[in-house]
Amino acid sequence: MSRAYNFSAGPATLPEPVLRQAQSEMLEWRDAGASIVEISHRGPEFLEVATSAERALRALLSIPDDYAVLFTQGGATTQQALIPLNFAQPGQPADYVVTGHWGKTALKQAGPYVATHVAASSEADGYRNIPARSTWQFAADAAYVHITANETIHGVEFREIPDVGDVPLVADFSSSIASEPLDIGKFGVIYAGAQKNLGPVGISVTIVRRDLLERAGQPRADIFDYRSQLKGESMLNTPPTWNWYMLGLTVQWMLDEGGVAEFAQRNARKSALLYSAIDESGGFYRNEVDPAVRSRMNVPFFLKDEALDKPFLSEAKDAGLIALKGHRVIGGMRASIYNAMPEAGVQALADFMRDFMRRHG
Ligand SMILES: *Cc1c(COP(=O)(O)O)cnc(C)c1O
Repeated sequence: MSRAYNFSAGPATLPEPVLRQAQSEMLEWRDAGASIVEISHRGPEFLEVATSAERALRALLSIPDDYAVLFTQGGATTQQALIPLNFAQPGQPADYVVTGHWGKTALKQAGPYVATHVAASSEADGYRNIPARSTWQFAADAAYVHITANETIHGVEFREIPDVGDVPLVADFSSSIASEPLDIGKFGVIYAGAQKNLGPVGISVTIVRRDLLERAGQPRADIFDYRSQLKGESMLNTPPTWNWYMLGLTVQWMLDEGGVAEFAQRNARKSALLYSAIDESGGFYRNEVDPAVRSRMNVPFFLKDEALDKPFLSEAKDAGLIALKGHRVIGGMRASIYNAMPEAGVQALADFMRDFMRRHG
């Protein structure tokens, strides 16, 4: 058996020690007499898993006490619909800064509930940059400003937190959470689907400044209500126990590896390796994103000659490098290099790219 280096954008590669631990606990979790996914979410064993996952996440991300953490089903897209329901009055304006596919999705999901207003967009430019903060135009009385911290498909990442004054900043961190130290206190809400950097798909993390939970929001069922979810300790209904358990293992692994400061350094080195391979290829490979806002997590690139796309993918696979096909929205290639991707994997890809160019250039 050999595991390839897996550059999938999500669901994405998981740390091997996490998979091994899950494997070893598959038939029986500690002395529970059953696996963690076969027992009640309200029993002491799972409650221990759930609370230690939250404790580890709070430690990893330095989440201040005045922020609540919710673990819910439904993925990031669901949070994009729940945010206007929870934090804005019906028809109230909400500002969206659209810097790629996921910003556009967030705008669409909020559409039925609020007066969405595009404060800035780089769509006309093909999402290759982030509009300068000075050009953003906010709606009067906006409930919040929404940004996508890292655009997973277009490969565009905010490199600094924009100042939006007193209006709560809401950020989709699905593909860059825990990739570097972050001042959570600058945000009203941070949300992330787990399947990029936190574990397997099926659970989302939402970090909410507690005072925002007191906002009235809109009529909504309990299950869509962040306040009720918090009161119910994210267990209003059966939570995705397997995913919660795996998230806990993944977060603990990140702490054991040295935490977000360590990953920030690794991620800087990993992405620099790939961008150099692209930029030094004399146009054989190209990445079109403004270098100032290139993503450290997702590196999209195109080959000069599209006819080489297929051979590139099949030769990469033979070399043990999988899931490099770009998203169908933009085509080309994409290497997703989240925390669980080892530096050796990125080095192997950069070496392969140079070798492929020598043979086909
Ligand atoms: C993957 C992704 C989403 C969508 O996540 P789902 O869990 O599939 O709903 C949203 N935003 C970003 C930035 C993503 O990377």
